[in-house]
Amino acid sequence: MNKQRIAIYPGSFDPIHSGHIDIIKAGSKLFDKVIWAVGANSAKKPMFTVEQRMEMMNLVNKFPNIEIGQFDGLLVRYAEYLEAEYIIRSLRTSNDFEFEFQMTLVNKKLAPELTTIYLPAKQGNIHLSSTLIRELILNHELIDDCVPSEIRDFIRRVKEV
Ligand code: ADP
Repeated sequence: MNKQRIAIYPGSFDPIHSGHIDIIKAGSKLFDKVIWAVGANSAKKPMFTVEQRMEMMNLVNKFPNIEIGQFDGLLVRYAEYLEAEYIIRSLRTSNDFEFEFQMTLVNKKLAPELTTIYLPAKQGNIHLSSTLIRELILNHELIDDCVPSEIRDFIRRVKEV
């Protein structure tokens, strides 16, 4: 039997939005298994706990080959632990590329067997970011255009907005 092609789609996902969901769907078609993983970034103060972010992912995860996960510390070590050979990241604009390419080079140095693939954001999702959504939530504005209804309802419930 051929070896399974396992990928990780890592990020802060604070909160998830339609852009992220589009990428995980694309990843599920490309790989045998994708771990959609929340990285607990100690440098960032999140709006949602890791558990809440994973709950949101579970709400929209309709694919049998996508598993939800979380990690602290280095992504490459988590990838080794999962026996994943691919990292999925996405690019919205050339600004994303600068940062992503640097991360890819660092990860390649730490774990040469890992390959990062970049998937392009959909034209209609390019403006979406978790930062924008957090700003909208803090200002009690509608987020209906940024997230599916189950995520909107979850956010309303936990943030009482
Ligand atoms: P991080 O803090 O690791 O960048 P994010 O949650 O912001 O985490 O993003 C996780 C991944 O999702 C990144 O690869 C990012 O480029 C991608 N992403 C962010 N916004 C969008 C979007 N609007 N459309 C597609 N992909 C996106």
